[in-house]
Amino acid sequence: MTSDAFIPFARPAIDAATIAAVGDVLASGWITSGPKVEALEARLSALFGGRRVCAFANGSATMEVALRLAGVAPGDEVITSPITWAATANAVLAVGARPVFVDIDPVTRNLDLAAVEAAVTSRTRALLPVYLAGLPVDMDWLYAIARRHALRVIEDAAQAIDARWNAKRIGAFGDLVSFSFQANKNITCAEGGCLVLDSVAETERAQRLRLQGVVRSGLDGMDVEEPGGKCNLSDVHAAIALGQLDQLAAITPRRAALAELYFELAEAHGWADLGIELPPRTRTHGAITNWHLFQVVLPADRIAGGRAAVMQALREHGIGSGVHYPALHLFTCHRRRGWHEGQLPHAERIGRSILTLPLFPTLREGDVERVAAALTTTCQRLLQ
Ligand SMILES: *Cc1c(COP(=O)(O)O)cnc(C)c1O
Repeated sequence: MTSDAFIPFARPAIDAATIAAVGDVLASGWITSGPKVEALEARLSALFGGRRVCAFANGSATMEVALRLAGVAPGDEVITSPITWAATANAVLAVGARPVFVDIDPVTRNLDLAAVEAAVTSRTRALLPVYLAGLPVDMDWLYAIARRHALRVIEDAAQAIDARWNAKRIGAFGDLVSFSFQANKNITCAEGGCLVLDSVAETERAQRLRLQGVVRSGLDGMDVEEPGGKCNLSDVHAAIALGQLDQLAAITPRRAALAELYFELAEAHGWADLGIELPPRTRTHGAITNWHLFQVVLPADRIAGGRAAVMQALREHGIGSGVHYPALHLFTCHRRRGWHEGQLPHAERIGRSILTLPLFPTLREGDVERVAAALTTTCQRLLQ
């Protein structure tokens, strides 16, 4: 690879042992849900302090099942963040409930928990916080709100594997915690997800709901009481996830070291003077990010052509970047339900100004230097 090869914003690192393990599954004669899924669930359970784990085909299905377990139904409201992937609110709509978006904290870019509590009504059934870029919210405050109002919590921890709240790993505590292993996530199996929970009854219901709701009995008995979907994980995918878990202890510190380099370069290049906002440092209060994403907020309203012009210029420097995410309440499906501009000012500004810079374990220090220099010269040139 030459030094000016294209740098994507994310890139999975699948090692040779994992590729061989996938080959073994393919050759085994059993390729859908089976022993590898069971092994994955056991490994994840150990990671999360012995809690129950139910694997799914993707994180979106995981959240939809979690909402059903929480009893979220038509007429209910679920409070969530507008700065998230479309899946978060889509899952709420899929169970017939209403997503209630509240504004974010402009520093953490996560839900403003004071606004969350103010948004609770008699119809609120659950809270659905999102840990953007792998940074948890204030978990003590979150669960205090849930307790005060007797609400279930479905944590959209899709991006937060190996993130922590004080000494505790996200997933090792809490109500219904949903993770994703989609291709860009810190550990991936191409597409997959898992739910972490405590209740035996809810775990068994989740296992039924991921495969049509089918219950087998004896050698030939079969019944469906509550129809489910088709979102079981395959052993092919589980073998990839098992290989990735072997790397987790190396992935998280590597991402943190690269993030730290971004902070040093940001200072050296004077990003604050250019109006480029940085993410919170590794530890904010008790929350410890896993550096799923390194995101800056551009002074987009003062840049000719806005964020798209910066992305185009970076592309011409051979650098990929991403948008995670535009404010969801301004999407057509939510506007149709009455959401509009001006309701959530922090989310709206950050939604049009946030930019994800390259960060992945095989990114090199020299690549980070290239990205930082290119963003600096681009902003200097385009700022008005
Ligand atoms: C990835 C992601 C999801 C959905 O996960 P899939 O596995 O792609 O279905 C949900 N929420 C957030 C915040 C995500 O980043």
